[in-house]
Amino acid sequence: MSETPTGRSVLVTGGNRGIGLAIARAFEANGDQVAITYRSGEVPEGLLGVKADVTDSASIDAAFTEVEAAHGPVEVLVANAGVTRDMLLLRMSEDDFSSVIDTNLTGAFRVIKRASKGMIKKRKGRVVLISSVVGLYGSPGQINYAASKAGLVGMARSLTRELGSRGITANVVAPGFINTDMTAALPEATQKDYLSSIPANRFAEPEEVANVVRWIASDEAAYISGAVIPVDGGLGMGH
Ligand code: NDP
Repeated sequence: MSETPTGRSVLVTGGNRGIGLAIARAFEANGDQVAITYRSGEVPEGLLGVKADVTDSASIDAAFTEVEAAHGPVEVLVANAGVTRDMLLLRMSEDDFSSVIDTNLTGAFRVIKRASKGMIKKRKGRVVLISSVVGLYGSPGQINYAASKAGLVGMARSLTRELGSRGITANVVAPGFINTDMTAALPEATQKDYLSSIPANRFAEPEEVANVVRWIASDEAAYISGAVIPVDGGLGMGH
């Protein structure tokens, strides 16, 4: 088995905080050249920060151009940027629905499309899509979010069928409940409800997702594509 090379050009969207930052740090520890997209605030130390909003193709194109100039074509793409706009169906507006789809699902499409050019040319690439246990498990109040995250599975599998012969893999990592700003915003009662249904009886830290992402992007995982890998303490068993 070949050893995963270091120094690869890695791009993590939404890598300025939360799970995305932990993923960026995991690749950095592997010796890769890591860039992250951010929208505002500070760029975490040691990482190349490129400003981009995944709902805006022009800003994505500019960000990739910057990364390519600094690190070469992106070989590992982690589509991590995501938002929630929870609301029960009867109160969910069309904008609540479509804005979440635009960021979580269409945003992934935009970055994959831009990254694929370089990967096809290089005949090598790793695409990792950060979904959620909720995508296949479902969740009341998250019709928009769950639909966006389930859509990523079809995206990874179609990508696998389209580009699998070019040395490119596309996989989905589906985290359960991870301690970040996103989950800190949930009411305490909701957090308690979640906890009671997680076999591991705990929430996880972002690093526990990051280690799996780093591995699925490694040469050791070269024959895995179109897979959905849960990191959820057993919550979604049976997907
Ligand atoms: P956070 O809310 O902590 O961070 C979200 C990240 O996405 C931020 O970096 C944010 O950038 C970025 N982002 C949001 N919208 C856009 C946009 N339009 N363009 C570019 N970047 C954007 O979330 P988490 O770290 O918790 O989540 C990361 C991913 O993991 C998400 O896709 C989420 O759905 C998924 N996930 C999280 C779980 C959890 O329990 N935390 C469970 C399952 C899945 P900015 O700082 O500029 O806002």
